[in-house]
Order: sequence, then structure tokens, then C-alpha cells
Amino acid sequence: MSKIIASAAIRGAYKLVEKAEKKYREAAGRFGPKKEVGFPNTAYYLPIIYGITGIPVKTVADMETVLKECRSLLPPFVKEDHPLPYLAPALDAGMAALFAEEIIEAVRYLEQPDFYTKGEDPAEGKIWLGAADDVIMRKRGVEFVDGTAPGFAAIAGAAPDPKTAAKIAQELQEKNLYVFMCAEHNGKRFSEQLAEAGVQVGWPTRLVPFGPEISAAVFAIGFATRAAMSFGGVKPGEYRKILIYNKDRIFAFVLALGYVSEEWYATAAGAINWGFPTIADTPIPQVLPTGICTYEHVVSNVPLDQIVAKAIEVRGLKVTQAEVPIPVAYGPAFEGERVRKEDLYAEARGGVTTVCEWVTSGAMDEIEDGKIEVIGPDLDAIPAGSQFSMAVVAEVAGRKMQEDFEPILERQIHHLTNYAQGIMHIGQRDIAWLRVGKAAKEKGFMLKHIGSILHAKFHQDFGRIFDKVQVKIYTDEKKVKEIIGQAREVYKKRDARIEGMTDETTEVYYSCTLCQSFAPSHVCMVSPERTGLCGAYNWMDCKASNEINPTGPNQPVEKGETLDAKFGQWKGVNEFVQKASRGKIDHYNFYSVVNDPMTTCGCCECICVILPMCNGVMTVNREFDGMTPCGMKFTTLAGTIGGGLQTAGFVGHSKYNICQRKFITGDGGIKRIVWMPKMLKEEIRERLIKRGEEAGMPDLIDRIADETIGTTEEAILPFLQEKKHPALEMDALI
Ligand code: SF4
Ligand code: ZN
Repeated sequence: MSKIIASAAIRGAYKLVEKAEKKYREAAGRFGPKKEVGFPNTAYYLPIIYGITGIPVKTVADMETVLKECRSLLPPFVKEDHPLPYLAPALDAGMAALFAEEIIEAVRYLEQPDFYTKGEDPAEGKIWLGAADDVIMRKRGVEFVDGTAPGFAAIAGAAPDPKTAAKIAQELQEKNLYVFMCAEHNGKRFSEQLAEAGVQVGWPTRLVPFGPEISAAVFAIGFATRAAMSFGGVKPGEYRKILIYNKDRIFAFVLALGYVSEEWYATAAGAINWGFPTIADTPIPQVLPTGICTYEHVVSNVPLDQIVAKAIEVRGLKVTQAEVPIPVAYGPAFEGERVRKEDLYAEARGGVTTVCEWVTSGAMDEIEDGKIEVIGPDLDAIPAGSQFSMAVVAEVAGRKMQEDFEPILERQIHHLTNYAQGIMHIGQRDIAWLRVGKAAKEKGFMLKHIGSILHAKFHQDFGRIFDKVQVKIYTDEKKVKEIIGQAREVYKKRDARIEGMTDETTEVYYSCTLCQSFAPSHVCMVSPERTGLCGAYNWMDCKASNEINPTGPNQPVEKGETLDAKFGQWKGVNEFVQKASRGKIDHYNFYSVVNDPMTTCGCCECICVILPMCNGVMTVNREFDGMTPCGMKFTTLAGTIGGGLQTAGFVGHSKYNICQRKFITGDGGIKRIVWMPKMLKEEIRERLIKRGEEAGMPDLIDRIADETIGTTEEAILPFLQEKKHPALEMDALI
């Protein structure tokens, strides 16, 4: 490593550690050593420190231990005639710098609790988002695992002007990368430049304004560190594994834009430990020999119009870009972007105008692959500012096509359309809502391009199950009305068919082992009446996925002999689970939380837990960040049971599963639920009422307590007694 960089990094690390020590002393004086500290709603404490050292920083006092560790990591200053290689000491200094910066940020959360917005988007007048909580982490982290996002660019500083910033950001978005932003150069910050250029920032567009100072870089590196623990199954303290996981799997790099201060050098040296190289636009010394990073460590003086390409080359990233023949940019990074009213050209809005989307199959010889027709006016004949009616009908044919796959293809229309820049899509079926932005219209986007998207992407993603697709887009009001009538008939039939399927009458279930890459002993088994615990896979989805990818994570499993009808246990399932968990789990029950429940992995939507005093169970969804009557928050629960374990008294499940007829029937079924967060109750209200009716208790929903009644068993029991909650009358739960 260059002597100049090493000595600057070491000096920077000293400065940061001193600043952290000062902040720590202030916090100890003002709040006392016992005061709780941490980033919001996370089970990973200060994640870099937790991941690398295994120390959970819970209180101000805990910071002192870490600061001592920082001091011992700090190497001596580089002397003029230093004979030793510089890399190792600089890396240690970088690590100390990151620990110190995490402490600085943690103290900021104490001193200015409202400095950062909580959530995915900037709020009124506040652009800085701060640390991603575990909800965001799960949602976004999965994209790193499944490859929809190959990695991230951490940008420090600012571009020369907002226009250049916007251009660099779009280039990174087109490569599907997340962009994590911090620090300033000449009083300017990259995130603020984007906002100024009218670019939407926030998690949904993958352009994340973490914080105004260089210390906010820890939110990016902390995110990567948590990914290793949460998805890679790496234990806190296994620092080597964390660093290697990141080097091999998270394609991240630092873009240093502008003057590189000593603190920047220190932070960049820290990032090199994770295998993240730095690419700079200024003529700082280069560090070319490779070692820790896949290729070079520091590459400098790169012109801004080449910086993204250079970074991608240096980090060794292979980007596959979707070939979709439309006049706007296309990719997952544009999925979350909204089209606001003031940017709107025109919209088709289900419920207001007549809109529907429908995938239907036809005979091979009736369908001409790639044919796209617009029946009625296209966008060039639709006046600006108007609301129009629209029916999108994709007709597919193929030797392997089945009617059951139609809804699966149809559900893709939502995100596939959303991937187009400047287009927003919400909902599906007859409540779909499409917004076309002015910018997209100006670039030449037409409704026929929806057809181009579906044709290209259906072939790319579902080529195995169908051979041909033609798309008709109706905007002629009369025609749209005709189509919606036909489509609604089909929607009704489909719903009845899925609702009518039972576990008893189905001989083949499907496994899902997608999560084994991060929870090695975890095996989901999906039956018609038990949707996968992440909520993303029901039985039909697994069936289709198996057809598309026969050797993939969803395998058909003959359930075989029934071993226990009440708890839901089958011989064939057990045998499969034993094999797939490599002997870790030899049996489990589908319908019980008390007795040998299914294994749970970290992506469950909800966790059901027994409440012995109330003779019932509670369930809590991931989005609820408050305390629950079992004494643990969701994050703690997920951290405790979510590693692919089987834990009596706890089970992960999907939101949808709560109102499926077999939900914990072995333990008494839905009438056992005594508590759930109000937001969850509201979300599933309609189905919950319907299930209550079926179970002979139409007002069950009103007898279930929530956090407004209490968050301890003692606090909710009187309410349950007053409401005559059925669980109180049931057999003893344990
Ligand atoms: Fe598959 Fe289960 Fe993971 Fe969902 S939670 S992806 S169903 S293994
Ligand atoms: Zn999972």
C-alpha cells in the first residue's frame, strides 16, 4: 500500500477514535453509563462491532470496551523511514475507524433522536435516512441474495454539479446496484444534488441518502455485515467469515468524489477489509497490487464519465442487463419509483376507470409470438392529464402451459411494468393502476411497449413453460368493458379452485429450500392449506416453479402415509425433511405451534408464540416494532428462532396462513389467537371476519387483544375474560 495512503489512513483513524472517545464521554456524562444505545429496530446492535468482535453494544458503558479495542487496533504513526509493509496496519486502522464511526453515529441517535427519518423515504425537509432497520434489511437484503441487486456503490462526497450526479446515479441504477450516499465535498452532498436534479431518492429507488458525514458510511458497511449474519448464517464474532462472505458475494465499492480527507482515507481502508475497493476521481495515490480485494484496492484520477464502468471492472462485477426493446431505462432499480401527480402524463386507474389485466392461454396455432396490438388510442392519441380505461390481455400458448400457471404469469405484469423508468404500476387484476410519467412519454413510451416488456420478459423468465405470447392492449372503452366481464368470470373460477383445495385431498406437497443458503437446516413444506412462511410461495407457485426449474428449490413430495391427522404429519414428508435438512430434523407437524412445529427461517412474515397464562397464542408481524405479550419484540424473536430451528412454542408463518383453515388446528385453530398487532388485524380484517364466521364466532376479531389493550399477558387477560375469549374455555394448551 502506498505510504501516503497508509499514513493518512492511520492519522484519520486516530482522529475518528478520539472523536468517538469524546462523544462517549459526553454521552456517559449526560445520559449515564446505563443508558441504552443502538440503531433503531434491529437485533444486530451496532452491526459492524457486533459482527466483527461479537460484542453487543447495548448501553453507553459497553462502548468503553469497544473503544479500548479501537486503541489496541491503532498502529503507530508511519515514520519517514518506516521499513515495514503498510497494508496490514492500515487495514487495522481502518477497522478501528469504522468501530469509532459506529459509536459516533450511535451517540447521534441518543443526542438527536429525530436527526434521521425512520423508514424508507426522506420526510418533509429531512433527507437523511440513517441505519436501515431489520424490516428494510430483510426486504432489501433478499435482493442481494437472489441476485436482483448484485451489490452497492458507496458514494462519499459530491459530483461537480447536480446533472453529473444524476447521470452517475442512473448509470448505477441501470446496473441494478444500490447507491449508498454519505459525506460532503466543498459543502455539497451527492444525495442533495440528486434531489436538486429532481431525482427521487430513498430505498425504493435504490438511491439511499444515509447521512451527511463520512461516519454514515458505517450504515453501508453495517448493512453488508448484517447480510452475512442474517443471510449467510455467520455468527457474530466470526469476523473472517463475514469479511470473506462480503468479498465473494456482495459486489460493493466506494466512489470517492472530491477531496479525500484523512477520515475518508481511514474509512476507505476499513472498507478494504470487506473487499470493497475505492475508486476516486481525484489524483490520490493508487494501490494497485491485489490481495484483499478481488482486483485493485484504490484506483484514482478516474474521469467521471468513466467512473461507473471502471468501478464495475475493478470489482469484477458481471452485469446482465435485460434486453427489453423500449425507449426508457429498464430494471429492478426503477421498480420502486413513483410517478407523482405533478409528473403524471396520464393514468389508467382501476376503480376509477375500467382497468384489468389478464393472462389466458390459447391454442398453439392461434397465437402469433411477439404480436402486439393496441385496440383503441395509444398514448400519442390520449390527451395529457387524462384518465383512460385499459385492458391488458396476454395470450400464451405452449406445450407445457397449464391453466394453473396463468395467474402466476399474470402477477408478473405488476413488477415487470414497474421496472420501466417513469412508469408506475400498482395492484393487479381489475384494480390495477398504471401511471405514465411525462418524462417517459417524452422519451417515446407508448402503451404498446407494455406488450414489448411482457413478450421479452415472459420468454426470459418463463421460457420453459410456454412458447408463445401475444399481447392485446385495449383502450376502447366498450371493448375494455367486454374484456373485464370475461376476465372477472375467470378470476372467480380461479379463486374458487384454490380455496377449494385441501391438504387431505392433495397427495403431493412441495418443498421449498430456497432459504437454505442462509438457514442450512431449514426446509419449508408447502401444502394447499399452508403457504410458505415468507408469504411468497403458495402451493400453486411451487408447482409452477418446479415446472419452470425441475431441479430447483421446489420439489414435489409425495406426502405418503398419514402419521398424525390432527397435527399434520406424514411419512413421506418426514423422510424428505430428514434428507433435505441433512439429518438435522427428522419430523415436524404442519398444524401446531406447541408440538414439534415446522422449522422457521428469518424471512417469516409473522411469528406465532404461545401465551400460557392466557391459554392461547399471539402472533406478531415483522412490521410491528413494539413489545409483545411474550416479552420479546419481533426482531428478538426472529433472531432467536429464525435460523432454521424447530422451537416448541414458536413458529414462523405467513400473514395469509392465519386465515387458512388449517392454521394451528392441532392446538385449537384460529380461536386460540388472543393477541396480534392492530395493524395486522386491519390488514387481514376481511378474511379474519370470514374465518371467524366459519368457526362459529363472527366477532372473533373483536375479542382478540392488540397493543392498545396491552403488551403483557397480565394486561390483556382481563380484556379476554371480559370479551369471553374462546381460548379461555379451551383445553389447556400445554
Ligand atoms: Fe421458500 Fe420457505 Fe424461504 Fe419462503 S421461507 S423462500 S417458502 S424456504
Ligand atoms: Zn427464509
